[in-house]
Amino acid sequence: MKKTNSLLIICIILICQAFLPQGKTLAANTGGSVMIATDAVNIRSGPDLTYPLIAIAKRGETYQVVQEQGDWVEVRLSVSKTGWLVNWLVTTESEKTQATATGSQGSQTSQATDNGIVTADTLNIRMEPSTASTVVGKLAMGSMVRIYSRQKNWLEVGFAGLRGWVNAEFINRSASLDMKTSPAHPLKNKTIVIDPGHGGRDKGTTGASGTLEKDLTYRTAWLLYDKLNSAGANVYLTRYSDSYLSLSERVRIGQTYHADAFISLHYDSSLDPNIQGMTSYYYHAYQKALATSLYNAVRGKTKLLSRGVRFGDFHVIRENSQNAVLIELGYLSNPEEESVLNSSSYQEDAAVGLYNGLVRYFKKNH
Ligand SMILES: [Zn+2]
Repeated sequence: MKKTNSLLIICIILICQAFLPQGKTLAANTGGSVMIATDAVNIRSGPDLTYPLIAIAKRGETYQVVQEQGDWVEVRLSVSKTGWLVNWLVTTESEKTQATATGSQGSQTSQATDNGIVTADTLNIRMEPSTASTVVGKLAMGSMVRIYSRQKNWLEVGFAGLRGWVNAEFINRSASLDMKTSPAHPLKNKTIVIDPGHGGRDKGTTGASGTLEKDLTYRTAWLLYDKLNSAGANVYLTRYSDSYLSLSERVRIGQTYHADAFISLHYDSSLDPNIQGMTSYYYHAYQKALATSLYNAVRGKTKLLSRGVRFGDFHVIRENSQNAVLIELGYLSNPEEESVLNSSSYQEDAAVGLYNGLVRYFKKNH
């Protein structure tokens, strides 16, 4: 009799659990939901920038809060999946209500009021307006940022899904005025994901004089980023710092953004130090036109030897359902070419070439 009773109780508990909406209890305890307050926010598998990227949240999306830990919020992505994002990129329910209550003035706090251009070689973005605060990202010279607010000599800026504080001294607010492009520009509203090859513990190849491929791909990526951004494209990088990212994560970022073009940047290496030149790779037939357009344009802009547009069995283009190409922008294993590739003029020419190749491609393929 006793046995039957306890069995019955277990059954009742199981039935009740089946009807309970999952995840609601925790969210209710920690204050409900949050809304994404910037264009794009990286969602990671843990509460730190070193955790792998698992998803990207877009402006206006709301998520149930599971818990908070320091500056990080764990949110529910699906019934069985959660992820972490930094809490200063989201708005809580109470903040939203406050904004509505104070009318337009309230909502202005999350709206960009102005643009500015970075005038320093690299500018740290910090979590708080203080040099003691954590660096959450870096801006390259010439990057255009949105300015949200000011605190003494610090500006709160937004850039490519990042939001944080920079030293106001290195932001030129007037230079951004003539950055506007006509609505007819072929890159306007095109989504382009730039993948700076390698990063973090994966250094890529090391040049004859020690240049690290991961550093050079990152440099080229930012130069290209700025040009595309100024033309009105939606541009994203697969990594915004010297961090490790698996090949499948890179592909996933391209798919998440529904990239119209995914460009993986690399520098080449060979055991034969005489080998030089650039190569453009595609895997699927639908990627060949873009690979060709970028190849011709870069070739027209730089003086590198041409090694052709080729079929290449690389993960980031093979496993990619987007229009993805992989460009090898010269050989670091060739000592003369290594020094050319490192020069600012080559970097600029390569970025302009890639930019021109994209413009020409999207002129033909809207
Ligand atoms: Zn590489």
